Amino acid sequence: MNLIFLGPPGAGKGTIAAIVKDAYKIPHISTGDLFRANIKNETELGKQVKEILASGNLVPDEITIKMVENRLSESDANDGYILDGFPRTIAQADALASMSDVDYVVNFVIERETILKRLSGRRVCKSTGRTYHILYNPPKVEGIDDETGEPLIQRDDDKEEAILNRLDVYEKSTAPLIDYYKKKGLLIDLDASKSPEEIFEAFKKVIR
Ligand code: AMP
Repeated sequence: MNLIFLGPPGAGKGTIAAIVKDAYKIPHISTGDLFRANIKNETELGKQVKEILASGNLVPDEITIKMVENRLSESDANDGYILDGFPRTIAQADALASMSDVDYVVNFVIERETILKRLSGRRVCKSTGRTYHILYNPPKVEGIDDETGEPLIQRDDDKEEAILNRLDVYEKSTAPLIDYYKKKGLLIDLDASKSPEEIFEAFKKVIR
């Protein structure tokens, strides 16, 4: 099953993708995670995109499409995948259409206010990528990762100015994909304001 998870930043795509990945045994391919891994490992690509990610702007299509093409050619993606955070522009969607057939585009529907609350409280463990929320999913000890004991950080792009920019970028560049995939008959709407368990239940029903 080839899935796209579409929706604004903070809609919970990554959380649900982690659940679907385990349940359906298909890889979770997050372009944001791939970029962050490159930045952490100080690769050439990482150096190219570091500033762009911190600002919340989009990495140029050419770079992003090449990275996804490479990732989808790996053998674990042969029997399906969850693309989380890709495509984000019409040009990326057109490129994906020439690489692979998509079965469903899951559209995470959520209000801007809810997103702001979620993202501004998000904290991550830098080495493992494990995420918390200061209100909804706090660590056992404030500011510390439950398993590694490392201090939690706030992603640069989860700071308020970058969040507002990311939401504007989403509205301008990515939201047009909702119509694009609706016209292709691939779109499924999910109410992303619910809990992860409820969202996963709704997901299973619609793709049955
Ligand atoms: P995410 O973790 O999905 O919110 O992505 C974090 C950042 O990575 C975004 O704000 C962009 O700077 C970059 N990024 C991720 N996916 C894409 C994409 N498909 N196209 C362009 N930039 C992307």
